[in-house]
Amino acid sequence: MEKILDIKDLHVTFTTYGGTVQAVRGVDLYLNKGETLAIVGESGCGKSVTSNAIMRLIPSPPGKISNGTIHFKGQDLTKVSEKKMRSIRGVDISMIFQDPMTALNPTLTIGTQLMEGLRQHKDVSVKEAKQKAIEMMNLVGIPNPEERLKQYPHQFSGGMRQRIVIAIALICEPELLIADEPTTALDVTIQAQILELFAKIQEETGVSIILITHDLGVVAKIADRIAVMYAGKIIETGTKRDIFYRPQHPYTKGLLHSVPRLDEKGKLHPIDGTPPDLFSPPQGCPFAARCPLAMEVCDKVYPIKSERSDTHQVNCWLQDERAKHLLAETASK
Ligand code: SF4
Ligand code: MG
Repeated sequence: MEKILDIKDLHVTFTTYGGTVQAVRGVDLYLNKGETLAIVGESGCGKSVTSNAIMRLIPSPPGKISNGTIHFKGQDLTKVSEKKMRSIRGVDISMIFQDPMTALNPTLTIGTQLMEGLRQHKDVSVKEAKQKAIEMMNLVGIPNPEERLKQYPHQFSGGMRQRIVIAIALICEPELLIADEPTTALDVTIQAQILELFAKIQEETGVSIILITHDLGVVAKIADRIAVMYAGKIIETGTKRDIFYRPQHPYTKGLLHSVPRLDEKGKLHPIDGTPPDLFSPPQGCPFAARCPLAMEVCDKVYPIKSERSDTHQVNCWLQDERAKHLLAETASK
């Protein structure tokens, strides 16, 4: 399969008065063409920072990509000029955010906003742009597109506005769409409709999708592969089957267990404790303080990635025989 995106050893830091926050700490991640990769984890785990790094939208200062590479179609996005990056953003890679209202300009019609990006980046006439805008409105399921292009954002419901935001993100036919919590602000029925829309769009356009979410229900619906993040690191990756049926990391198991189940009337089982302080992250496993199965080695050495299968990798000493030897080594030092 062709890799459209390949991230290696990505580190992102933020310098503050209180010290340096290590928000992303050595992330390796790839995305195959036409697939949906979900990055899941609690808030503050580094998932949005990772996606902002791909778009080179880390505010600098205080933020900085301090190490690593992000290869997208043969070029390293950490190295290209800002001018080049502007021609990639919104054209080759598009991003949509949680709140559709802030993404739309309340003073401009939907038609203007749809056509703006296209006219800016591509050499098209007004007539062609309008035709394309109508096409996009059809794709995202907004009826009477010709009439509705003349309307303003407040004349649409929340779900419709998110459809419009998706249409704007797709109008230049990007190869990669990054969606950061795209359904969090919407009610459950609308959420389901938007997720179905993502699946439909992928089928019709072949776009590759990175979905950032804390919601495993969302992941279960549309992801092909899943990367679980914790304290700035990816601690487990696998196909949807790997993660849902054969989770290996205690944190992944905890996340799955914390999903409300219908038979328990929506009762949540949150994981006890809080993630470590990223001003001074622990040298060992970042989950050790919360992990019911932690061993002595866990506090001391960061768990090496172990391969459960071609598709499934986990960073946890429980899964790794080397843990025993390492413990003996560290004890003798
Ligand atoms: Fe728990 Fe140790 Fe595995 Fe970390 S490495 S998740 S502390 S068992
Ligand atoms: Mg976020």
